[in-house]
Amino acid sequence: MTRKICLFLAVLCMSRTYAQQIHYTVTFPNIQHHEARIFMTVTGIPAGKATFRMSRSSPGRYATHEFGKNVYDVEALDGEGNAITVNRIDGDVWEVPKQKGTVQLNYTLYAAYPDGTYSGIDQSSIHLNMPSAFMWIKGFDKAPITVLFNTTALDKRWTIATQLKPTVNPTEFSAPGLQYFMDCPTKIGLLNWKEWHIKNPNGNNYTFKLALEADAPDTLVSSFAARVKRITQEAQAVFGEVPAYDYGGYTFIASINPYVEGDGMEHRNSTMISIPYEFNGGNNLLGVFSHEFFHCWNVERIRPKTLEPFNFEKSNMSNELWCAEGFTQYYGELILCRAGLKPIEGALVSMAGLINTKENTMGAKRFSPADVSRHAVFVDAGVAVDRTNYPNMYSSYYPYGGAIALALDLTLRTKYKLTLDDYMTGLWKRFGKPEIAYTVQGLEDVLAEVTSDKTFAADFFSRYVNGHESFNYTPLLEKAGLTLKKQYAGKAWLGNVQYAENTTIISSNTIIGTPLYNAGLDVEDAITQLDGKLVARAADINEVLSSHKPGDAISIQYKHRKETKTATITLGENPAYSLTTYEQAGLTLTNEMKEFRNNWLGTKVK
Ligand SMILES: [Zn+2]
Repeated sequence: MTRKICLFLAVLCMSRTYAQQIHYTVTFPNIQHHEARIFMTVTGIPAGKATFRMSRSSPGRYATHEFGKNVYDVEALDGEGNAITVNRIDGDVWEVPKQKGTVQLNYTLYAAYPDGTYSGIDQSSIHLNMPSAFMWIKGFDKAPITVLFNTTALDKRWTIATQLKPTVNPTEFSAPGLQYFMDCPTKIGLLNWKEWHIKNPNGNNYTFKLALEADAPDTLVSSFAARVKRITQEAQAVFGEVPAYDYGGYTFIASINPYVEGDGMEHRNSTMISIPYEFNGGNNLLGVFSHEFFHCWNVERIRPKTLEPFNFEKSNMSNELWCAEGFTQYYGELILCRAGLKPIEGALVSMAGLINTKENTMGAKRFSPADVSRHAVFVDAGVAVDRTNYPNMYSSYYPYGGAIALALDLTLRTKYKLTLDDYMTGLWKRFGKPEIAYTVQGLEDVLAEVTSDKTFAADFFSRYVNGHESFNYTPLLEKAGLTLKKQYAGKAWLGNVQYAENTTIISSNTIIGTPLYNAGLDVEDAITQLDGKLVARAADINEVLSSHKPGDAISIQYKHRKETKTATITLGENPAYSLTTYEQAGLTLTNEMKEFRNNWLGTKVK
């Protein structure tokens, strides 16, 4: 073989590598019955077998899901259109054992659950979350992707909302590779579009769009979009700038109608929101918009190393969801309050919820925010049929992380004349803007840098992030003229449990440390007598309790399976907190408190 031929072959091999490309054509021949037929063509496949698969996870949803269950009628063709062998070798995996570089894999997708994780194909609209809809080929993560939605048989008024890169063909889009493609949910339907612009201090201008699927008059949608715009401005003020979006802007893809499932899912340059109500344009719909938009900084770009790259074969376990989700939950509410879209009373109910999660749930009393983040692989819409002991060993990283955000915000304001906005901006500059994935240690380092106090940062992370110590919110909230009170002080209590309807059968786990738990009662036990009195309903139990005080020891009789048991139960006091303003509590609000509160909850938009 001469050197020349060698070179020729090398170039040929290279050109084969460069020709690696994936194209999908999506058709809807049986839309009434929620099916799509998807044609996937891959070119440039190296010799040998080709492995295709459906995902088992979806960006932003942290538990495992089996998307292969809704795929069938899989067939494979070669480059000339001849049928070739394809074998299903695992639940989600199909293998083409022999091929010559080009394979077309065709399959039917059934989809009838439109939300942030799954897809919905319906004659009234099409809702696609990519990992639940698109098969992919292993080893081709970097291959460019194009997708054509064949809309010829669909309603001519329908439009397409997606963060995929547009092409000259209005129904065809592209993505630079698998990771981005999977992050691009797509809605096709009768969408009402609104648009606004936001400029960054460097002069760059970004286009924001609301693509709303709702049965609503245009004026109502316009006024709603104006409030979503307020959210985008208020969020920009936290960081001083919006991210440099990949294709010039950001799209809120939202379906607000009774035919979707409730969800909100963040993506790099868009969010997919589904709220199963008739659209009334109310501010109560805005919480999910505020939360998801904050994610375009926090988690999409200020991104934990544990989520990078996203693994579509199994869910990524993350130590940092208390920050990625919890801090986002805190800011979602704060931004609404700052934008004047949520009254302070509503904000205080939310904050009391955060504090109660941190101080009064067993998950947070026994495990750290980092621990509960790692449990997300099971709980984030994860499906299980067996009973778990979550009430005693797990607290959601959303409110738990939000409680850490509140504690840190108040501490920074009180101790350093800094704010959580300063910390988030520090994270943005160190990790988000340059898109360097972070670790928990990195979060601690930035706190040390922002406060110039390494000891404080180490102490805070050791006690409240990697540990689960109680946090004393009371003196810090008082700085803002807010008072934290025991909501049920002096009232006798058995513990927070649910009873099956119209019975005294305990239908939820009893909780460690509560009177029922200490007396030995657990789920499915039925309370029959309390303090010698027959009880048949929850109301009867409350009646008996109303004549007692916390600390009283009384008799309890209950049925465990077929056995009647008796015990002595020492009544407790519900530890739940409520949060009120000094004004509501009849206390004097000083000018200093007013200023503290306004700096915290007032608008930051200049
Ligand atoms: Zn979120």
